[in-house]
Amino acid sequence: MATLDSKLVGVLGDRTTKVLKDLFGYTTVGDLLHHYPRRYLVRGELSNISELNEGDEVTILAEIFSASSRRLQGRKGNILEVIVTDGSAKLSLTFFNQAWREKELKVGKQGLFAGKVGVFNGKRQLAHPDYELIADGNDVDAAVESFAGKYLPMYPASAKLPSWKIAQCIELAVGALDEVPDFLPESIREKYGYPTLHQAIVQLHNPVDLDTAEKARQRITYDEAFLLQLLLLTRRKELKNLDAVARPARSGGLLDALDASLPYELTAGQKEVAKEIADDVAQPHPMHRLLQGEVGSGKTVVALRAMLSVIDNGGQAALLAPTEVLAAQHLRTIEKLLGPLSQGGMLGGSDIATQVTLITGSQSAAARKDALALAASGAAGIVIGTHALLGESVAFNDLGLIVVDEQHRFGVEQRDALKSKAQNPPHLLVMTATPIPRTVAMTVFGDLDVSTLRELPLGRQPITTHVIPVLEKPGFLERAWERITEEVSQGHQAYIVAPRISAGTPEDSDIDFLMGESSTEIASVEELGPLLSGGALKTVKVAPLHGRQSAELKDSTMRAFTDKEIDVLISTTVIEVGVDVPNATVMVIMDADRFGVSQLHQLRGRVGRGTSPGLCLLVTSAPAETSARERLDAVAGTLDGFELSRIDLEQRREGDVLGVSQSGGRSHLRLLRVLRDESMIEQAREDASIILELGLSQFPLLATELADIQADAASEYIDKA
Ligand code: ADP
Ligand code: MG
Repeated sequence: MATLDSKLVGVLGDRTTKVLKDLFGYTTVGDLLHHYPRRYLVRGELSNISELNEGDEVTILAEIFSASSRRLQGRKGNILEVIVTDGSAKLSLTFFNQAWREKELKVGKQGLFAGKVGVFNGKRQLAHPDYELIADGNDVDAAVESFAGKYLPMYPASAKLPSWKIAQCIELAVGALDEVPDFLPESIREKYGYPTLHQAIVQLHNPVDLDTAEKARQRITYDEAFLLQLLLLTRRKELKNLDAVARPARSGGLLDALDASLPYELTAGQKEVAKEIADDVAQPHPMHRLLQGEVGSGKTVVALRAMLSVIDNGGQAALLAPTEVLAAQHLRTIEKLLGPLSQGGMLGGSDIATQVTLITGSQSAAARKDALALAASGAAGIVIGTHALLGESVAFNDLGLIVVDEQHRFGVEQRDALKSKAQNPPHLLVMTATPIPRTVAMTVFGDLDVSTLRELPLGRQPITTHVIPVLEKPGFLERAWERITEEVSQGHQAYIVAPRISAGTPEDSDIDFLMGESSTEIASVEELGPLLSGGALKTVKVAPLHGRQSAELKDSTMRAFTDKEIDVLISTTVIEVGVDVPNATVMVIMDADRFGVSQLHQLRGRVGRGTSPGLCLLVTSAPAETSARERLDAVAGTLDGFELSRIDLEQRREGDVLGVSQSGGRSHLRLLRVLRDESMIEQAREDASIILELGLSQFPLLATELADIQADAASEYIDKA
C-alpha cells in the first residue's frame, strides 16, 4: 500500500514513472494524484453541433472533416484548426502551439470532443477541447456505449502521455492508496460539509456522479485557499515580530514643514491612509503595507510624508521606481514640494533641510559618484532610483523606509535586495496604481496590510472617453487632430500614444502584444511624428518619446513637456505609469485595441490631472461587435479602475494574474482561481486567522502540511537565486 509521499516507482512501472517525471516532474503518488481532471466526459449528454450556444459546456460525438495548421501572423506560434461534423453541422476546434496534435487528429477519425463553446470571427468553436478518439475498427456505438454510466475524467495531457494513459496511472495509484490522513481541522470540514481528504481525492478522479465530483473539487480548492492564507498570515505575523526602529512623527521637523507649505489640502482619503502609515512607522516593528490607489489619487505625497517622518527620526528613505522617466519625475516633484527643505547643506537651505538624490543606470559616472556618496553618508534623506538602487555599490547610512512605486513591476526578490541594505529591518510601503480586486490583493499581497485610496483630489474634472472606430467613421480621426490643435491653442497639452516605436516587427515596441492576430498596419511613434507635424498638427510643437531613446533624451523631453516647451508628446507606453503633467488634457491612443484594459486606464490617467476636463480618444480599426471593441467600450464606459481591473483579470490566465512569484507557494495552486473563488478565499482567510489564533500546535497534521509548503517555497526561492 502507498501514502501520498510514496515514490511512484513502487506503484507504476519504471518507464511510466520516468515519463511522468520528465513531463510533469512528478515523483510521488501525491504529485500524480494532484493532477486533476479538467472535466468529465459523460455519455448521454451528447449535444448536436447545430444546437450549440455560446458559453455552453458540451460534449459532442463527431467525425474529423479537415485539419490544418498555420503560423500566426505578426507574432510567434502556430494554430491548428480542426473542423469536425456530426451530420447536423460543422464545428471548428482550435489549438495554439499544439501542432503535434495534427498527427492524431486525422481526417475521417471519430471521437468525443468536449469543451466550452466560444465564438471567433462569427464562427462557433471549441478552443483547446478535450477529446477521446475512437480507435480504428472499433464499433462507434459500442465505444460510446462503453462510457455508459461512467464519468470519464479528462486530464491535461500531452503527445507522449494521452489522457486515457494518465487515467490508468491514476487508477493504479488510487487503488494502492492507504487512508490519507486529513490535515484540515474537523470543525472546518464540518462547517462546509466537505468530504475527507481521502474521499475527495478518490471522488475527484473517479466520481459516482457529477455532484460528488464537484464537492470533492470544492474541498480541494478550499484546501489550496486555506493553506495559502495560513502561509501568508503566518509570514505576516513573523514579519510583524521583527524589530525595527520606530519613527514616530516629531513636531518641528520636515513633516510639519511640508504640511505647512503644501499647495493643497490633503483629501480625506489621503489623510486616512497617511494616518495608517504614520501609525505603522511609529511601531518598533517593520511596516509592510500596500497602498493601492486609483490613478491620480495622490499617492506620491502620502509616501513623501512617510519618508519625512523617517528622516525626522534620523533615518533615510529609498524610493524605487520602475522607469527612468518616473524616477526623474519623482525627483522633480519631490524637490518642488520640499523647496528649500531639500537644499540641505546649501546656502539658503533651511536648518532642518535634507537632500534628495537620484541613482539610475544611465547617469554619468560623476553624477553617480556624488549620489552614492550622499546615500552612504546619510546626507541624502531621500534616495530615488530605478533598478540601479539595488546594485551592490549602493549603500545607506541608515535606511529606515523603502517605498516601492508601481509594485506590479517588481518582485519579492527585488524588495528583499533593497531590504538587505538596511541594518535593521526597514519599514516597507509598496504602491500600485493598478487597482486590484480585494481577493487578488489577499492572494498576491496577502502578507501585507492594505490601504486603499479611491478618492481623487477635489476639483478634478472627470475624463471623457470616446471610441473612434476608423473603419466606420474615418472622418473622426481628423476631428481628433483638430481637438488637439484647439486644446493647444487654449494653452493645454496632449499625448498621442502608439503601440510601436517604428514600423516593423511587433517586438519593436514598449509593450507585450496581446493575443490575437492582425495583419493591419499598426501605428508607430516614428511614422506618426513626421506625418502629423507635416500635416494635421503642423501648427503645434510635437516631440517623440520612447524606450529606445537615451535616458538623457527621455529626461530632457519630459522636462521640456513639463515646462510647456512641447505641446504634444507622441509616445509609446513609456508614459504609462506615474507621469504627471496636470496641464495635459487630451490623449489620443492609436490602435487602442492593442493595449490591455488596465493599461488603457493607466494611460488615460495621464490626462485630467489638473482642473481642466480630460479627453481620451481610443482609436481602433477593430470591427464592431468584436471582443476588442467590447474591451474599448468597457474602458470608455467607466472611470472605476477597480471595475476595469476585474475585466482585465478575467481575460488573463491565472499565472499572469498572480504575477511573478509574488507569493511563495503559488505552485501549490492548481484549482484555485482568484476571481471565481472570491468568497471561498475570503472564508479561507477568516478560517486561517481563527486557527492561528487558537495556535497551530493544536493541529499537528496541519502544522506539518504548512511546514512542507514553506520548505517548498523556500527551495523554489533558492532555485531562482
Ligand atoms: P498617483 O496616485 O497616480 O501616483 P500623484 O501622486 O502623481 O498620483 O498625484 C496626482 C496629481 O495630484 C499630482 O499633480 C499632485 O500634485 C496632485 N495632488 C495630490 N494630492 C492632491 C490634493 N490633495 N489636492 C490637489 N491635488 C493633489
Ligand atoms: Mg504615481
